[in-house]
Amino acid sequence: FESRVANFGPGPSALPESVLQEATQGLLNFNGTGIGIAEISHRSKEFTAFLTEVEGLIRTQLDVPQTHSILFTQGGGSAQFSAVVLNLLARHRLLHPDLSDDARVMDYVITGSWSKKAAEEARRLGGGRVNVAVDARQFAKDAKSFDNIPPHNAYTFSPNPALIFYCENETVDGVEFSTDASSAASFPFHLLPQNTLLPLVGDHSSSFMSRPIPRLADHAVIFAGAQKNIGPAGLTVLIVRKDCLVDVDAAAKVGAVPVPMTMAYKTLADSSSVYNTPSVLPIYISGLVLRRMKDLGGVQYYEAFNKRKADKVYAAVREGEAKGVFKAKVKEGSRSLMNVVFDVVGDEAKFISGAEARGIKAIKGHRDTLFYASVGSTHMPGIRISLYNAITEEQTDAVVTFMKEFLAQ
Ligand code: PMP
Repeated sequence: FESRVANFGPGPSALPESVLQEATQGLLNFNGTGIGIAEISHRSKEFTAFLTEVEGLIRTQLDVPQTHSILFTQGGGSAQFSAVVLNLLARHRLLHPDLSDDARVMDYVITGSWSKKAAEEARRLGGGRVNVAVDARQFAKDAKSFDNIPPHNAYTFSPNPALIFYCENETVDGVEFSTDASSAASFPFHLLPQNTLLPLVGDHSSSFMSRPIPRLADHAVIFAGAQKNIGPAGLTVLIVRKDCLVDVDAAAKVGAVPVPMTMAYKTLADSSSVYNTPSVLPIYISGLVLRRMKDLGGVQYYEAFNKRKADKVYAAVREGEAKGVFKAKVKEGSRSLMNVVFDVVGDEAKFISGAEARGIKAIKGHRDTLFYASVGSTHMPGIRISLYNAITEEQTDAVVTFMKEFLAQ
C-alpha cells in the first residue's frame, strides 16, 4: 500500500484502501465458504444474500421507494444509452400503439459529451424521433463548448414524450446539475409534463452515491456504472420504476423494436438480476464500498464531504485565474463537484509532470481523440481532477498545495 499514489482518475477511479484490503480476503475466501468471490456461483445462497444486502444498502441510503426496483446489470452507461430507448419506446408503444415513429418523441437534454452521445444512440436505434429539449452549447461563452447548465426558460419539453433524458454530471466537460432547487443550474422538474407518470431518465454514472438524488421518485430510470464512486467497472446499477418493467414481447407484437432479453428491464427484475451470470466480483467490491459509506453517514455525509473537497480545488483554480495561470472551463454555478476541469495557460506539460513527481496521477483531461470525433466536440482536454467519494481530504489538500506551489513559481 505504501507505493500507492493519489489517483484522481475519472473512472475507473480510486477505491477506499480499507475496502481493497478487505476484498483481498474475499478473493480467497468469501464469507467463510472456503471459496473465493471470483470463483463462487452467483446462485449460491451466500452470494444471493450478499446481493440482497447490496440492494438494501442502495435503497436505504438513497431512500428509494417501493415503487422502484433496484437492478444490477453489465454493459455500463453505454449499454443503458440503448436499453432506455428500447424499453421506454416499448412502454410508449403499449400505451399509444397508433402513433407514428415521427410522433413518438424522445426528449434529450444535452449538457455535455455524454448526453450528446446518448441522443445519438437514440437516433441510431430509431422507432421514435429525438427532440433536443435544450442544447447547452447555445449558452456557452464561445457558443460551442459545453460549459454550462442552461437557464430554465431555455428548455422545451414535448407534451407526451416516450422518455426525457438528462445526464446529472457530465464527466468529460465537468458540468453538473445543482441539487438545490432554488439554483438556476438545477434540473427544471417544474417544467416537465404534469399529471403523468414521467418517463424521466437520469444518467447518474459519475455522481451516483456522491449525494442524494433530487426527485428520485419521479424518475422512470436512473442508471450508473459503478466505476466512479462505488466500485470496479463491470457493474451497472439501475433504479427502475415498476411501470417501466415493460413486457417487451407484447410491445413487439404491436410494432415495437424487439428488445434483447438481457437488456429488457423486466427480465432483470423477474430474475432478481440473475437472469444470466452477473458481475460477481464488481458487485462484491461495490457492496463493501456501500457498507463503508453507510457506516460513515451515507450520501448526506458524502455530499458535505465532496462539496468541501471541490470548494478547495475550485478556490485554487480561481486563485490561478486571478494570476492568469489557470482558466476554468465551466461557468460558475454549473461546476461539477466530481470533475474539476481547467486549462493551464502556458506550460501544461510542466503542471502534469510536477503533479506526477508528487504522486498526483491521472489528472490529464479526456484524451481520447476518437471519442472527441464521435461526439463532434471542439473541447480541448486540459486538466481534469476527479474528486469521487474515495478521494480523501488529505489527497485533496495535496493537490491544492501543489497547485499553489505551481502558481508561486
Ligand atoms: N455516462 C457518463 C456520465 C459517463 O461518465 C460514462 C463513462 N465515463 C458513461 C456514460 C459511459 O459509461 P461506460 O463506459 O460504463 O459505458
